[in-house]
Amino acid sequence: MTRETPLSRLVSAKRIVVKVGSALIAEAGSVRQTWLDQLANDIAERRAAGQEIILVSSGAIALGRNKLGPERPRKLEEKQAAAALGQPLLMAALAHAFTPHETPVAQALLTLEDTENRRRWLNARATLETLLGAGGIPIINENDSVATDEIRYGDNDRLAARVAQMMSADVLVLLSDIDGLYTADPRTNPTAEHLPVIHNLTAQHDAMASGSNAQADLGSGGMTTKLTAARIAQSAGCSTVITQGSKDRPLRNLLDGARATWILSTLTPDTARQIWLKGHLTPEGSISIDAGAAQALMGGASLLPVGVTAAHGEFARGAAVAIKAPSGQTIAKGISAYSSIDIARIAGLQSDQIEQKLGYRGRPAIVHRNDLVLER
Ligand code: GLU
Repeated sequence: MTRETPLSRLVSAKRIVVKVGSALIAEAGSVRQTWLDQLANDIAERRAAGQEIILVSSGAIALGRNKLGPERPRKLEEKQAAAALGQPLLMAALAHAFTPHETPVAQALLTLEDTENRRRWLNARATLETLLGAGGIPIINENDSVATDEIRYGDNDRLAARVAQMMSADVLVLLSDIDGLYTADPRTNPTAEHLPVIHNLTAQHDAMASGSNAQADLGSGGMTTKLTAARIAQSAGCSTVITQGSKDRPLRNLLDGARATWILSTLTPDTARQIWLKGHLTPEGSISIDAGAAQALMGGASLLPVGVTAAHGEFARGAAVAIKAPSGQTIAKGISAYSSIDIARIAGLQSDQIEQKLGYRGRPAIVHRNDLVLER
């Protein structure tokens, strides 16, 4: 039997989130187009190998700031304006990079609420799934021009980790300007040792990442935010790899054995999600279902309107609900894609009748199987 190496996680990953920092995208306010073209080659290679890639790209502020004036933007509104000026330049550069691969690039600008609020999270996930299904490459950044301090991710490491979590990615690649975590700052401390693999992130790792090592990256996130991101990803069953991205072909280099720090997750995204659903959902109402639907649910199916007999309590779309068999026993918990009012209206209908009844085309399932956990 071949021993699993961290790298084999990258090779076998179905879905990968790649995060690119500002310093890799922009140099003195201009796009590093050759590097970006090479990154597109790497991503095309992964896609040809059957992997799905979501790109989280920084660089909007870095590209937009000299369009605003000679001064470096300091105030929040100046940074927001710079981001608004730079984001189209960033997308144009990315679209150019992917043109030879005939890959449509899709921009998705997220705000913190899109991954923290369940109703919005259902929407954002469905949009990104649709983009991936259509063969596009979602390119995500924070919606900097409207996000204010209190409601910001603040750095794209954290944003990328939230996206990895929301999209059940297997691997999160953080392309940085340093090739991973060291026991101390390698630029000033000759005894600093590189850590290739971390299984359990501890306060000791945080201590290593703080201090001068914290300034390792030129973007707003240093090594500390990378570890925060890795923690979020780890709890979602996603392994993180931090590697030096500034040389051409960073993903290829990684696969060829470039130095990196892996923070491994022992869970798969599926099990992590099941654990999360089990532990975090406090039902706000319940849905009664018929015997056929109960059986289908036990077999791993989604809950469709046809099997629903009633909704109890008042709840909104995105709420946690208990799902009850005809005996009254709760057999599952899940996140409802419909409000209690709409469920009452579509109970017993076929999924293709939803639109006619509600006047809008909702999701085919009331509770998707990915958002459902059986009570056993
Ligand atoms: N969203 C910011 C930008 O595009 C970057 C945030 C970060 O550096 O992590 O400019």
